[in-house]
Amino acid sequence: MTQPADADARRAVKPVICYPNETLPLPDLALYRRAFGTACKTSEVLVPPREAACFHVPAGHFFRISSVDGPQVGDLNLWNAADLSERFYSGKSRALHGTHLTVGERMWSSFPTLRPMATIVEDTLGWYGMDAYGGSVHDVIGTRCDPYTGNLLSGAQYHHCCHSNLIRALADETGMSMAEAEPYVHDVLNVFMCTGFTRDTGQYFMKASPVRPGDYLDFFAEIDLLGALSACPGGDCSSEHTSDVAACYPLLVEVFAPSEGALEGWESPAVNGYDRTHGRVFTAPQPG
Ligand SMILES: [Zn+2]
Repeated sequence: MTQPADADARRAVKPVICYPNETLPLPDLALYRRAFGTACKTSEVLVPPREAACFHVPAGHFFRISSVDGPQVGDLNLWNAADLSERFYSGKSRALHGTHLTVGERMWSSFPTLRPMATIVEDTLGWYGMDAYGGSVHDVIGTRCDPYTGNLLSGAQYHHCCHSNLIRALADETGMSMAEAEPYVHDVLNVFMCTGFTRDTGQYFMKASPVRPGDYLDFFAEIDLLGALSACPGGDCSSEHTSDVAACYPLLVEVFAPSEGALEGWESPAVNGYDRTHGRVFTAPQPG
């Protein structure tokens, strides 16, 4: 392959940010933090290793995901509790905020609602930043470990990937069959997972999570949420997943309610303002 004469000049063109986020509606973090300071715990669930569990968080309440016992990463799905078709949109959250999420950034919902579902209000791993390999924590670049990719790559039949764990948890929570629940499971926020892309080949990599027992990630629920968290079979993701090889630990999810009036001035975000005509004039369906 020959390079054009101006190859270097073309490569030297400066990038532009796809979605300049100066106009993104900003969360009132100070208000959220003050409200969290008044909050009382209303429920908790301990997610067993290589399993997932569901939890409910009403709009205006908080939830915390904590590392307990040992370093462990978690795969998080979120749905609108009243309409499971509104779910976390990892790709758009990545496009809006970047490859990894931290304090002040949001988990956005799918089309056509595209609104904040949850806002990160505290991150004890915020100090990690971006390491020398281009790795960082809490990514929205991975998908979720799943038995199909495992089968493709090694012919395995492994049943405790996050994808399967999330399906079982959602089916148990809703009464759906496994087949009904599977299409609702979506790409995740990889809580505590340390990942990036290699600079030379652009491949997705993971490395041992810097998380330690006592670390946590706090979220504010912008709408009524059904969540599901899987304690990944990769454990701290220092070696492999899609197997029972890695040491795995539970993850704790706690839900907190702020005191009455603590969120004065806050409103749950409305659905996206686009009119949904997509360039065609809307015509009501005719009877018959
Ligand atoms: Zn996983």
